[in-house]
Parts: sequence; structure tokens; C-alpha cells
Amino acid sequence: MTDNYSPEDEIIPQAIRKLTPGRLVIASHNMGKVREIAELLGPHGMEPVSAGALGLPEPEETGTTFIANAELKALAAADLSGLPALADDSGLCVEALGGDPGIFSARWAGVDKDFSLAMRLVHEALEAKGPDAGRDAHFICALALAWPDGHVEAFEGRVDGRIVWPPRGDKGFGYDPIFQPLEHSITFAEMDPAAKHAMSHRADAFRQLVETVF
Ligand code: IMP
Repeated sequence: MTDNYSPEDEIIPQAIRKLTPGRLVIASHNMGKVREIAELLGPHGMEPVSAGALGLPEPEETGTTFIANAELKALAAADLSGLPALADDSGLCVEALGGDPGIFSARWAGVDKDFSLAMRLVHEALEAKGPDAGRDAHFICALALAWPDGHVEAFEGRVDGRIVWPPRGDKGFGYDPIFQPLEHSITFAEMDPAAKHAMSHRADAFRQLVETVF
């Protein structure tokens, strides 16, 4: 303790808030995501309701990190609905590209959501880095759970792997055909969906959420 110590300097850890059974807004307009999240949280007594069903607008993703974007979506939905709300934000980060496409993963596919194009852009950017550029990459999934009073619990899941070329496999979505998880010789798009779901960045984030808030 120094002479300048004052009790106000103490960092008091905020208590973790638990989620009580009841309605939970899924702050996404993607029905696939809403269904998947509903299946994961239903067994915990949650009644998921989608932001789309409540007519909530989709806020602009102005954050500079996955967590910031998940938090702003969850806070907006909780504020407007008066209910707890869960939002996610995810993407592919390639180390040799300084973390790109990162939070812009969906946007690299353009308005047509053309992931063949997005994967080619990743490959070309890596080729442009020269023969020494590594192929290490990871997927991130941020989850934010917000309450109408502004309290937020946030979690970040991750899975590490490598970028391969050409793309392989036709299961999954997005960048799955060029992502080969560590210690595997097949891509996420070649993998049985259950195997991917057991090891994915999303599974990691949900495991943390379930362990913390229930
Ligand atoms: P979000 O819907 O704004 O979170 O955007 C996520 C984007 O990241 C998706 O459009 C995909 O491009 C990419 N992405 C996230 N998770 C995965 C995954 O598990 N496999 C493949 N691509 C993913």
C-alpha cells in the first residue's frame, strides 16, 4: 500500500450475473443462427425469441473488435425489448494478413455473399506476401449477453488451424473449405458437421457462456 492509497482506487470485480429461465432475445436476423442458438439454450429453460420476430432493427456494426460488435448488438436488442439479449460476432483471422479478414469476414464476400470470391481474396493476399508467409489462421466467435440495465457478460471462443488451397469440401459455410483445424488433415467443409460443432470457435464460446451464466 502506498501513501497515496485511497479506497476508491480498488478495482472491485463485478459479480457475474446469472441468466434466469424465461424469454431471451437472439439478436440476429439470420434464422439459421437463431435456430442453432435456440437448440443450445432450450435445455437451460430459455425461451428464445428472435430480434426479427420482435421487429427490432439491426444496428450498424461499428465496433473494432468481435466483442465490441457482439456487445453493441446485444445491448441495442436488450434496451429496445426490455429482455435479456444474446448476440454473436465471428470471423476468420489470418496471422500473415495481420488478422484480416477479421471483423470484416462477411463483407469480404461482397453484397452477393460470394464466399468463393472471399476465399480467393484470402489466397491472393497470402500469395502476394511471398513464399515465406505462414498459413496460420484462427476463427473467433464472440458472444455477448446483455440485460436492459446495461450489464453485459461477454465470451470469446477460438479454434486454431491453417489456410489451405485449393478449397476442399462442400459441407459447412463461409470460409470452411479453406480452413483446416490443427491436428486434422481435412477442412471444416470436409468434416462431419457434428465433429466441426464439437470443436468450433462457436462451441468454445457457448461452453464458456453455459458454464458461467447457468
Ligand atoms: P457475422 O455473421 O457478422 O458474425 O459474420 C461472420 C462471418 O465470418 C461469416 O459470414 C463467415 O464468413 C465467417 N465465419 C464465421 N464463422 C465461420 C465458420 O464456422 N465457418 C466459416 N466461416 C465462418
